[in-house]
Amino acid sequence: MSNGEFEIIQRYFTLSKRPPRKDVIVSIGDDCAITEHRQSQRIAITTDTMVEHTHFLPTISAADLAYKLVATNLSDLAAMGAEPAWFSLALTLPNIDEQWLSEFSESFFAILDHYNVELIGGDTTKGQVKTLTVTAQGIIPKGKALCRHSARVGDWIYVSGSLGDSAAGLELLLKGKTAVNLTEEFLIKRHLRPTPRVLLGLELSSSLLANAAIDISDGLVADLGHILERSDCSAVIDLDKLPLSPELISYAGREKAEIFALTGGEDYELCFTVSHDKKDKLNRYLANIGVPYTCIGQLRAIHSNNKQRINFQRDGQKVILDNLVGFDHFK
Ligand code: ADP
Ligand code: MG
Repeated sequence: MSNGEFEIIQRYFTLSKRPPRKDVIVSIGDDCAITEHRQSQRIAITTDTMVEHTHFLPTISAADLAYKLVATNLSDLAAMGAEPAWFSLALTLPNIDEQWLSEFSESFFAILDHYNVELIGGDTTKGQVKTLTVTAQGIIPKGKALCRHSARVGDWIYVSGSLGDSAAGLELLLKGKTAVNLTEEFLIKRHLRPTPRVLLGLELSSSLLANAAIDISDGLVADLGHILERSDCSAVIDLDKLPLSPELISYAGREKAEIFALTGGEDYELCFTVSHDKKDKLNRYLANIGVPYTCIGQLRAIHSNNKQRINFQRDGQKVILDNLVGFDHFK
């Protein structure tokens, strides 16, 4: 490592305002970080990369970018029911822009500190395309992980928050829009500053209430599809139950709002399944954590004469949505 790199790490990546975690034995500054684990714990590990032009627009602010990089990784941990603990950060930058680094690291540590996460290492390199990679690790008590493969026929399907806002926010940004009213501001914020549902994930796993969970990064249809595939089920979704924000409906109209909710990416809400006999307990457990959630459908067995994984209904009547396939709101 050159002196320049060392100085950058010192100046911008040791800025936590939180006391160091007791389970970090060796942090930034050695060849590896060392963390301590209990026998009763499992470690959940996830990596996400964001590449300029591919995953974010060059116009995004350093603060929004740092927030989103952290939030997307926290969302993966939340989807497993893990308690966030340690992050590593690999940064590839075309040049050293002190102003950018300073904004980036301030926002990065604000959200890390909020979730009691420690930055324990990383790598800093020069390269043509701005690229950011986080490896996030979280702690799960043995036997409590929320996996995709353990949903069961008859489970009710739930989602947190509202769906489709982020895709509408992205559409606004791609049109080169800056928010002119509260509706647009809300949608753009939902795209740039998604709330990772960490508390909800922890509650669902510690209470053993959910059979399966996933975070919605590629749209409900795609991500619920992963649960269905891994758990060998199909699903019925009630279109009138989809949680749509008033802002999304006012921006896009009901019909397009539904499409955004079903296929739009980057909501970072959780989708989870709960067996019928645990519905009441779920309502009691989630009453106090302040995260909205909605039951949107139910898991069914796969029938040999209907290979469709997801079936839709409205007011109890079957609906065919042929405009789902091929719909691309990025164009
Ligand atoms: P080495 O040459 O031994 O691989 P590095 O030069 O990559 O070491 O990094 C030195 C120390 O700084 C290591 O502890 C590494 O984890 C940490 N580090 C490097 N880049 C970052 C970064 N962007 N954020 C946090 N820690 C970093
Ligand atoms: Mg290195």
